[in-house]
Amino acid sequence: MSEKKRILHVGIDDTDSKKGMCTTYVGAVVKGELEKIGVKIVGLPKLVRLNPACPFKTRGNCSVAMTLEVSDEEIPMVKKIVLEKVGELAELKVETTNPGVVFYKNKEIPPEVRAFSKKVVREIVKIEDAEKIADEIGADLHKFKVGRGIIGALAAIGNVLEEDRTFELIAYRTPENRGRPRKIDAESVLAMNSKIFPETFDNLDPSTGEIRITPHTPCPILYGIRGESVSSVESAQKIVKAGEPIERMVIYMTNQGTDEHLRKAKISEIKPFWSVSVKGKVSSSPKIIPGGHVIFNISDETGKIDCAAYEPTRQFRDVAKNLAEGDVVIAHGGVKEKPEIPLTINLEKIEILALEPKFLKRNPKCSKCSKRMKSEGRMKGYSCVKCGIKAPQNSVETVPVDRRIDVGKYEVPPRARRHLARPLVREYRVKPQTLEF
Ligand code: ATP
Repeated sequence: MSEKKRILHVGIDDTDSKKGMCTTYVGAVVKGELEKIGVKIVGLPKLVRLNPACPFKTRGNCSVAMTLEVSDEEIPMVKKIVLEKVGELAELKVETTNPGVVFYKNKEIPPEVRAFSKKVVREIVKIEDAEKIADEIGADLHKFKVGRGIIGALAAIGNVLEEDRTFELIAYRTPENRGRPRKIDAESVLAMNSKIFPETFDNLDPSTGEIRITPHTPCPILYGIRGESVSSVESAQKIVKAGEPIERMVIYMTNQGTDEHLRKAKISEIKPFWSVSVKGKVSSSPKIIPGGHVIFNISDETGKIDCAAYEPTRQFRDVAKNLAEGDVVIAHGGVKEKPEIPLTINLEKIEILALEPKFLKRNPKCSKCSKRMKSEGRMKGYSCVKCGIKAPQNSVETVPVDRRIDVGKYEVPPRARRHLARPLVREYRVKPQTLEF
């Protein structure tokens, strides 16, 4: 680096609405504009997913950041470009869109910003919390309207993705095609998946065959390919065929698929909107409620909490349905608080550590004809209708019940999965995730 150059981190968040736009696209455009004027982007831009249970999110709660190498003279121009692009592209007319941009001039990311970032991925923070830290470290904040986006923008800068990380190659559509059906050759996605999975993951939903690389929203994304390395997503991209032009492409380094949002917790500590991993015993048998949702309760030494496998989790509900009182599990998911409903963990994954043996009582068999005998009434023993042979009350047979589930880890299908949830297929590359409780 020449002496005059220094590091400038840029974070951006809260630019989109349900009707359009996407913060990753704003990041891609900003990157392109800065490169046009010769600014060097250090490494890859980051796509940082924040707490998926956050009530302020539009969709996937994503924020972006990038690291630039700039001279002091370039900084005003860089800031102007970033702020102009955010102002131009953000859905400012939508009440809930409140962009924030953060600039931070320092190579090292201070520990308090890293800690703040972890908190934003797992809990809920206030705008003032971001302002306080920015003030302490001397970061430059820019709020559009309420400016809630400064939370995500600072969190994106603070997430150094050093524990676990994945990559996503995103291809964006040209403006005239946005909002129209996406033209992707499904066969080419199947071919890519059979060649590169699991180095790229979440390409398909294995149970339905549904293509998962294309979003279903009117946003500018044509497709996003998630993978373990830059080379895997690049190789995959060469196989996928698009039937429409691609405006631009970017590869983000990201915390997607890492489980970074899950915070180990005792039941009494849990707060609404946290994302948690809780070890407990199933303390009420699963119930199926209207809508096809499966609800059961778990308890630990500090309390009880409901767990829900909602209808969109499809076959995952079969695991939940077959749980029984006494089973030991680790429940992973976001904690929702709804009026008149107790705090509930919205299950993303469940690990069954131990199954409580279950037994069924059956009338004894006749020693002569082997037919099941009939009860003669409470505490009165049994008799064979055919042979008349009698048997005492304690001759009742105890038969183990087939639990239909095994000890192990189970996850919701890709269509219902949080961006941050680590697919089980990734577990072979990272440390085994049985959390110590
Ligand atoms: P997209 O994924 O398409 O970019 P989104 O789902 O990321 O949309 P945003 O429009 O960015 O949603 O809105 C989320 C808002 O919530 C942002 O302003 C962000 O700063 C804020 N936010 C994110 N996580 C937290 C959190 N843990 N606590 C408080 N505020 C948060």
